[in-house]
Order: sequence, then C-alpha cells, then structure tokens
Amino acid sequence: MLSSLLPMIQAPYCGRFAPSPTGPLHLGSLLTAVASWLDARAAQGTWHVRMEDLDPPREVPGADALILRCLEAHGLTWDGPVVYQSQRTAAYEAALATLQEAGLVYECDCPRKVLRAQGGPYPGTCRNRRNPPPGAHALRLCAPPLGADQVAFRDRLRGLQVSALQRDPGDFVIRRRDGLWAYQLAVVVDDGALGVTDIVRGEDLLTSTARQIYLQQCLSVPTPRYLHLPLIVDAAGHKWAKQTGAPGLNLTQPEANLAQALALLNLPSTPALPCEEQLQVAQAHWNPTQLPQGPLFLSEALD
Ligand SMILES: [Zn+2]
Repeated sequence: MLSSLLPMIQAPYCGRFAPSPTGPLHLGSLLTAVASWLDARAAQGTWHVRMEDLDPPREVPGADALILRCLEAHGLTWDGPVVYQSQRTAAYEAALATLQEAGLVYECDCPRKVLRAQGGPYPGTCRNRRNPPPGAHALRLCAPPLGADQVAFRDRLRGLQVSALQRDPGDFVIRRRDGLWAYQLAVVVDDGALGVTDIVRGEDLLTSTARQIYLQQCLSVPTPRYLHLPLIVDAAGHKWAKQTGAPGLNLTQPEANLAQALALLNLPSTPALPCEEQLQVAQAHWNPTQLPQGPLFLSEALD
C-alpha cells in the first residue's frame, strides 16, 4: 500500500488541535497548539479544536473549559464549535459498520497479559476463529496482507516515512474490550468529517500515522499532510508530559509562556509583547522546514 506520498490537496487549509481533557495544558501541548495554529493562519486556513474525551476514567471534570480558557489567554483563536468525541458515537459506529461490511474486523479476547508476554506484533490468534466465545472482546482491524502492508508518507519536517503494518502493530484494536473507541478510529473519522487537510502534532504520534493512513484508505477518507513536531524533553531526556509531572501553564503569564514556546520553535519571541502581537510576528516568520528536528531541551532556568 505504497501511496499517499504527496497527497494532492485542493481544499482550503483546515487544521486542528485535539487535546485530551485530562488536565491543564502544559508547555508541550502549548507548543503543539502554537505550531498548528501558525501553520493554519499562515496558510489563511481554518483551525479547529477537538476534545478527545473518549476515556472517561482518565478525564478531569472541567479540564475542557480550562483548556479553552488557556488557548484564549494565549491568543489562539479557533473556528467553529468545539467538537467533543464523546458526542460522535454514531459516526464511529457507522465507520465500524463500513469496516465490518468489508470483512476487515474480527473479535479478539486475547488477555492483555498474554499479548504483553508474547511481545511483537499481534500474532493474529483470533483472526480466523469461526465462533468466538461469548463475553467481552475487543474489535481488531485486519492489517493488509504481507507485502501489501507498506504505508509511506512524506512528513513535512522529517521527509519520507515508511512502515509495515504487519510488523508493527499487526491487526490493531479499533474498539476496546471495555467498549471504548480506540484513538486511531476516532481520529480518522473526526478528521475526515471536519475535512482536515493538515495535521501538525507531536512526534510521539508518528507511530500512529501509518495506522491512520491505512484506516483512511479503508474508509475512503482523504489523507491529510502531516508535520510531526519534536518533543520537549527534560534534562534526563524524558518527554515533557502530564504523566512525567509537567506542570500546568501559569495563566497569569501567558506572554511569557508563549514566548517560551516560540523560542523552542526557533521563532522570534518577545515576552514583553501581548500574545496577539507575538503571534503576528511569528506568523510572518513561520517556515516549517526551519523547525528544529531533534528533541527540545528545556533548560532548568526556564522551568
Ligand atoms: Zn485475540
């Protein structure tokens, strides 16, 4: 499946920022939002916000409102209504039905412990079972057959990326055993519905992209262009994330936060200016090919 190298996108630019409402934004998520916003605005495009609220146990009440307030405080204006994935069940069910009609979905009840012990790609244990036993099960999407399983795309910063889905991850889960929709399916359905032409997001999602392109092909959804940003890391090289203790942004100093994110992106930063003006300057200098490639080290002085 060697395709989608250079998607021919005629539609006007449509970008998005898609946080999970699991807590306040931190500097890493602000950096993603800023880069994605600048890319959209520099192309006179639209920029949308989508709450990825598909995992209730991980969510924090009120985090969605806090995230929106934070975007506003930093001058990151969005277009249209905010999309909530928790309200998109019907669209995910329709996509699942399409995949099932194509004979691409099967039930899997392999215990997670067994899969983890095996390691490597999913071995396809449940793929050809005639009568799956009753009970809770996940739904897996068949990866394309060996030899036809290569997905290639050209990242706007990192160049050609090629993955073989059989090797990683094999047949993958599109609905979890607990009934929750898998991230991969929801993202593809929602980006397709919104008409997203350009995805700017963190490098940690680079491994998801081949799966998403394959799903786009299965669902006849156009493939957007991709730009995967380098991640902010701490002195020990760990990703700057909620899980590793990255603090929420201090909303009393949006100008300083924004200047810090812009500096990490190699863009002019002037904390003395209001956010709107900083963004204007940055937009005029925006050139994705000039973005830093490697991890972005956060010096301790800036913590
Ligand atoms: Zn299984």
